[in-house]
Amino acid sequence: MDTLDIAFAEARRYLASLDTRPVASRGTPAAIRSPLPVQLPLHGMPATDVVRAIAAAAEPGLTANAGGRFFAWVKGGALPAALATDIMCSAWDQNVVLASTSPAGAVLEELAGQFLLEALRLPPDSSYAFVTGCQMAHTTALAAARHAVLARAGWDVEAKGLQGGPVIRVLANAHHHSSVTRALRLLGLGSDCIVPLGGDVPGTVSADALSAALADAPDAPTILILNAGDLNIGACDDFATLCPIAHAAGAWVHVDGAFGLWANASPRLAPLVAGVGLADSWATDGHKWLNTPYDCGMAITRDPVAHSAAMRMTAAYLTTGGAVRDPMDFTPEWSRRARALPALAALMELGRDGLAAMIERCCDHAAAIYDGIIGFEGATGIARPTMNQGLIRFDACDGANISDAVIAAINASGEAFVSGGNWDGERVMRISVCGWNTSANDVARTVAAAGEALARLRSSDDMDAGLTR
Ligand SMILES: *Cc1c(COP(=O)(O)O)cnc(C)c1O
Repeated sequence: MDTLDIAFAEARRYLASLDTRPVASRGTPAAIRSPLPVQLPLHGMPATDVVRAIAAAAEPGLTANAGGRFFAWVKGGALPAALATDIMCSAWDQNVVLASTSPAGAVLEELAGQFLLEALRLPPDSSYAFVTGCQMAHTTALAAARHAVLARAGWDVEAKGLQGGPVIRVLANAHHHSSVTRALRLLGLGSDCIVPLGGDVPGTVSADALSAALADAPDAPTILILNAGDLNIGACDDFATLCPIAHAAGAWVHVDGAFGLWANASPRLAPLVAGVGLADSWATDGHKWLNTPYDCGMAITRDPVAHSAAMRMTAAYLTTGGAVRDPMDFTPEWSRRARALPALAALMELGRDGLAAMIERCCDHAAAIYDGIIGFEGATGIARPTMNQGLIRFDACDGANISDAVIAAINASGEAFVSGGNWDGERVMRISVCGWNTSANDVARTVAAAGEALARLRSSDDMDAGLTR
């Protein structure tokens, strides 16, 4: 067997084990290190031995998030065509920085971008960038926003930076993801620039709150950050109402749609994000709900001029400006793998109807898990999924919140993997369903595992153990 034979055999073995292996890894750090040398070897090892040793080391430490019963955080698996394409990308080792460095990479990325805009029903003339994840998609799109709002104020931020320039105000949904905060930090705006906005509907910004905040400083260059799917309850802002208000005040509207933007691909779920196409920029992920392998994020903007102004670089040795788009004019990365190709593959494997069906299926599974679990004594529904995210609280017989103990027990069972969160000041279990391969059987196994964990922790014998965390 050569190295690729071994890699394929290992990949197949892992994929075949997803139904039976514990979802949460049980490997200790020592077990993971044990097949490998403790110091850099003086002499190299045969390549086949290296691949075997790394596979053996990783095996006990692998999380089964490629399978159908991983519901923690927001992680999808990898569709078969996307996975296989990703493997080919590694073999081809293309540097998709310019059309001249990889014509295949650049041309196919253009097609991926076109299909992406079609899938998400965003303006067809939008610019796009395939980046490492939603974190960098925020950084990219907000750099375009920073350029645009400062250019309108007569300030060239690419040349002058922020020092001495007009102060940018950032209004953001109070439930913004921490990656938004970090993007603002990286862009020199700092986390303190955020004015958090809320409203009566949980997880969303009200028109009144937005109007009042805008009126506070009518002339300040302003960026508004809204959510298409917050990570706790999948809440979406009322884009149809908020975008026109923001635009009337000259603000740039950016949407964190890491997973929730994909609701727009389903006719059934699109009403949740009605008006999202009115925004100026969007950040989303392929590696979450589109089910591409990591790392695949997408930054999209309505303003290709601002987008490329924020990102474009030139250097004497580059050959640019051909008929095909140069990817690096839109990305913060210089050298980069052909990360758009697995997204292209996923979009082609699903098609418009398959994509909608996958999104809807995940939402239905999330609701079924929620409904199944809240039927148990001691489980209280906090937020039934309107999209693919739901929250449940678990209580002991004496009323103590044992959500974290139940989460730990479900994860220790190996049957499913869930995560916790805070909502309205209490600990809750979150369920997030984004996997293309989650089945009704996976739903049933998860509900059963939660029921067993909860019953055991509520029985008086185990109570003390359950409350220790
Ligand atoms: C996951 C997530 C992010 C960050 O995305 P990465 O791809 O991990 O960088 C941002 N916002 C929301 C709502 C998310 O769920």
